[in-house]
Amino acid sequence: MRKKVIAGNWKMNKTIQEANEFVEAVSGKIPSNEKVEAIVCAPYPFLASLVEKTKGTNLLVSAQNMHYEDSGAFTGEVSPVMLKDLGVTHVVLGHSERREYFAETNETVNKKVHAAFKHDLTPIVCVGETLEQREANETKSFVGEQVKKAIEGLSNEQVAKTIIAYEPIWAIGTGKTASSQDANEVCAHVRQVVQEVTDEATANAVVIQYGGSVKPSNVDELLAQSDIDGALVGGASLEAESFMQLVEAGA
Ligand code: PGA
Repeated sequence: MRKKVIAGNWKMNKTIQEANEFVEAVSGKIPSNEKVEAIVCAPYPFLASLVEKTKGTNLLVSAQNMHYEDSGAFTGEVSPVMLKDLGVTHVVLGHSERREYFAETNETVNKKVHAAFKHDLTPIVCVGETLEQREANETKSFVGEQVKKAIEGLSNEQVAKTIIAYEPIWAIGTGKTASSQDANEVCAHVRQVVQEVTDEATANAVVIQYGGSVKPSNVDELLAQSDIDGALVGGASLEAESFMQLVEAGA
């Protein structure tokens, strides 16, 4: 049985006070069981404080990006060494907003995925098609290629630990969700692609999330699908109450 992984992606939102208050409100309520894992993906300036506040609780803390080098002359960047040192456990890589606005490519995503494993961070790798690609019937080939490139060169053991988030770009922040059947079909295809480049056991172990306008009212149906193992949630993860409803849906 794969765990349901619910990750709240705050994007570029909240002040440190709001972030701390959120975590104080939810961290003690996250169930400790084999069924669900809850993560907040926070902006860099909040990470140290959130790691401190979540100590001894079941809420995990993720970054939203990082560079792939360990250290050096990369002004403005944050390294995997720094994240690990803080006690961060996960890192979101290749979010479509990073691919679109910050020139992230399949190649840089792959380098970052390797860097994450080098420093024992769990990558949450985002993939997903545009509306044009969906309408041109290119979703599976495009997403499949993104997945293959992201995990290229990893051991099967590393692939099994990777979290893949399928997020159709047209569903992000738009209120439009892929139907649970459509979302599941692409997630099942992602698993198939993982199997092609690894093996069946690895494909069965990998956690595949759906993301794109997930909210308390649609999460149950999405999580009930055979190949959807959790959700990466933006807007509906900003309020403690709705984040908790999402976590409870996975528990
Ligand atoms: P959304 O964002 O839930 O606000 O659509 C999801 C994401 O971008 O991870």
